[in-house]
Amino acid sequence: MHIITHTCPSCGTVVAANELESDRVMKCPGLGCDTVLRFEDLPAEDREHFLENRDQYQI
Ligand SMILES: [Zn+2]
Repeated sequence: MHIITHTCPSCGTVVAANELESDRVMKCPGLGCDTVLRFEDLPAEDREHFLENRDQYQI
């Protein structure tokens, strides 16, 4: 399975796409990091892949 993740540009914390998708917008979970991460920040092809295969990403 192709794991889709997003890396926070400020602190490098890696967030799974399914976490981003469920909230659409989330505050970075990194310690002391206030960066807001958006599902839309993912590259378009990653978003498409995720949405087409979202059943596989439910944990
Ligand atoms: Zn961060």
